[in-house]
Amino acid sequence: MSRKKSVEEKEKDSRQPEESRERTVVNIPESFPVIPVRNSVFFPKQIFPLAVGREGSLLVLQEAQRENTNVLILAQQESTVETPKQGDLQLVGTVTRVLKIFNLPDGSKNVLLQGLCRARVLTFLQFDPVIRAATQRLEDEKAAGIEVEALATTVKSVFQRLVELSNELTDEHLSIVLNMEDAGAVADSAASLVTLPVTEKQKILELLNVKDRLNKVHFLLSEIVQRLELGAKIKSDVQDEINKTQREYYLREQLKAIQKELGENSDNVEVCEFRRRMEKVKLPDEVRKTVEKELERLSKMNAAAAEYMVSRTYLEWLLELPWSVSTEDNLDISKAREVLEHDHYGLGKVKKRILEYLAVRKLKQKEGMRGPILCFVGPPGVGKTSLGRSIANALGRKFVRMSLGGVHDEAEIRGHRRTYIGALPGRIIQGIKKAGSNNPVFMLDEVDKIGMDFRGDPASALLEVLDPEQNSTFSDHYIELQFDLSNVLFIATANMLDPIPPALRDRMEIIEMPSYVEEEKLQIAKDFLIPKQRKEHGLTDELIRFDDDAVRRMITGYTREAGVRSLERRIADVCRGVAREVVEGKSEGTQVTLDLLTRYLGQQKFFSDVAERLNKPGIATGMAWTPVGGEILFIEATKMKGKGNLILTGQLGDVMKESAQAALSYISSQAERLGIDESFREHYDIHIHVPAGATPKDGPSAGVTMLTALTSLLTGRLVRNDLTMTGEITLRGAVLPIGGLKEKVLAAHRAGLKYVLLPERNRYDLEEIPQHVRESLQFFFVKEMEEVLQIALQPRELTRGDRQAEPIGDLAITN
Ligand code: ADP
Repeated sequence: MSRKKSVEEKEKDSRQPEESRERTVVNIPESFPVIPVRNSVFFPKQIFPLAVGREGSLLVLQEAQRENTNVLILAQQESTVETPKQGDLQLVGTVTRVLKIFNLPDGSKNVLLQGLCRARVLTFLQFDPVIRAATQRLEDEKAAGIEVEALATTVKSVFQRLVELSNELTDEHLSIVLNMEDAGAVADSAASLVTLPVTEKQKILELLNVKDRLNKVHFLLSEIVQRLELGAKIKSDVQDEINKTQREYYLREQLKAIQKELGENSDNVEVCEFRRRMEKVKLPDEVRKTVEKELERLSKMNAAAAEYMVSRTYLEWLLELPWSVSTEDNLDISKAREVLEHDHYGLGKVKKRILEYLAVRKLKQKEGMRGPILCFVGPPGVGKTSLGRSIANALGRKFVRMSLGGVHDEAEIRGHRRTYIGALPGRIIQGIKKAGSNNPVFMLDEVDKIGMDFRGDPASALLEVLDPEQNSTFSDHYIELQFDLSNVLFIATANMLDPIPPALRDRMEIIEMPSYVEEEKLQIAKDFLIPKQRKEHGLTDELIRFDDDAVRRMITGYTREAGVRSLERRIADVCRGVAREVVEGKSEGTQVTLDLLTRYLGQQKFFSDVAERLNKPGIATGMAWTPVGGEILFIEATKMKGKGNLILTGQLGDVMKESAQAALSYISSQAERLGIDESFREHYDIHIHVPAGATPKDGPSAGVTMLTALTSLLTGRLVRNDLTMTGEITLRGAVLPIGGLKEKVLAAHRAGLKYVLLPERNRYDLEEIPQHVRESLQFFFVKEMEEVLQIALQPRELTRGDRQAEPIGDLAITN
């Protein structure tokens, strides 16, 4: 009650000058002494205190007291300026009356000022010793009416809300604002009481239009209210959370106390569940101890803590890993043979090796010893994965696959330590969990694509995994317990042998899986791929049949691959087409013939273009080995005016470039004998190109082909268009053996060529090549480059290529 009274008194105070205003205002002189103030703006009709310390300002006060004059308060633009000059002061301020002056011990004074009205500085009359300004009084632009009244009421209510939320404003402040009757003064009083930036307050002071002023104040107050409301909400949410956690903690403690009192286990539900699971599974002692320790830790943790989740996930892993789960091996070799035969066509040598391997494993298992790791090396689509799956079937084991392609980080194999956020075990342990047994067939795909960089060397981690001496105690960084991998049957696969790190290669028993020839592909298609796709598309034998010719055309004209993956996809394409026709009622059974292929597969994509390309001198056909099987390649040479430079294009590696140099040097040294103008290098530059330019090529085995292309160019004699060749050359004219013979010969066969020229020392490698391929080709074995040219180049008179020379009989052998 007393407080209320004081408010009323105060309001009476502030209204007093209102009554005397008319008198005061009339007496306003043109000029006023000025007190500059920093960091605040004063409004009319408000009473406010001001601490005055600056000398000029103290002089102004003396004058005001002495002569009973009013004082102009101007806000200072820069609060740091000690003696403001023109430009440092705002030009709109408040004319005030000095109500009372209090002297302070340090010589400064506190004054109580009464705001009277707004005034604009017309000009500053002086700055020293006191600032004096000529001014013009400013009147509010009043727009009486309902809108302004409503605005004033809104400002009042927003201010009220502000008082509720703010710690700085009191009910006294509220009553000042609520009791203002003049709309302009409502805005002024509200603005003067809340904390706002000086620039905003100055803008309000300068707004003479009452409606605008109210709008501005309303906007600024609402902003503050919003901010405070948000703050209050966050605070209450946080408080709620704290209360909740405290409550939970308290309850949990109580529960523990009660359970202890009752002699019961104090674990939470989850811990109990883990315990139940632990009892059910068979765990090695070491693991059981760790699980128990971790459960103990978990039971003491707060379920909301991040640690809790980490510990929980870890327990999940420990309990889910098949520590003692293994499948019974079926080491019946004849059953294994049956499964392998049932799933795969051909691959005689590979199957034999696998059966031998299994037999050895069987014998050694009795002695507690383990055999080496198998590694299937071959182009894509030759059945490496499906063979792995068959082995698993034959042995009655689970099968898992993990690709090592692009694995750079050791942690991907061995896992991350649990201290990392989101840590997980490595791929080996993940694979084992997926398999659900500790002795699956584990296929490590693409061991040749494993990378190495600053994050560690995954190959060395893999070595440990594969080493029978070490892998019984494999330790994953995440699991931190030893897992016995010695019963896992690891099978690696790779496209190429060379990039496999040598240490890794030593651990493995390499089984090469060669590319398939057309005949083999036809059989695989008929016996395996077509029945499989037919079934997958819901078709029957009656609904779709394939002519052999059609399948053959699919192999040669629609795919170009070493394996049968694309072929399987083309077969699927045809099956899909037929299935659709059957469903649409357009077909009651389709015999897929050669002519029908375009209907399902579109135009043929691959053609044998060897003959057409070799109709000019300077082009020869070679064979290249690639990771995805062999390939036919063309080497083109041309000459132009120049000074004997040799230009090489088509992304050739260094070794290939050196072969070209060697070939050119040999030709230069033998120019006369070959019938070439000896001075050719003085007049011409030679350019050798090997399309397709985008594929990098390297290796010495294109030596003979380069030599042939160059000699053909310089002599103008055409190269036989039914011949392809491979071999390394020396400067002295010898032809050296090459690798990858099988893939190369198969590529020649696929391309429909007749004659193949090979180094003599590769003669016995020919045994690897399937009989029917050998039969369909004729081979020349050469020791010297001279022989190469003799066989490859056509006689001079045949340069237009319209007649083909017969092969030289005694050099050709037919297998
Ligand atoms: P890779 O693992 O070597 O890339 P896949 O095992 O994936 O090849 O083989 C691709 C497809 O070809 C599979 O459907 C597979 O069954 C089939 N396939 C490959 N070789 C044979 C074969 N000799 N007999 C039967 N099917 C085969």
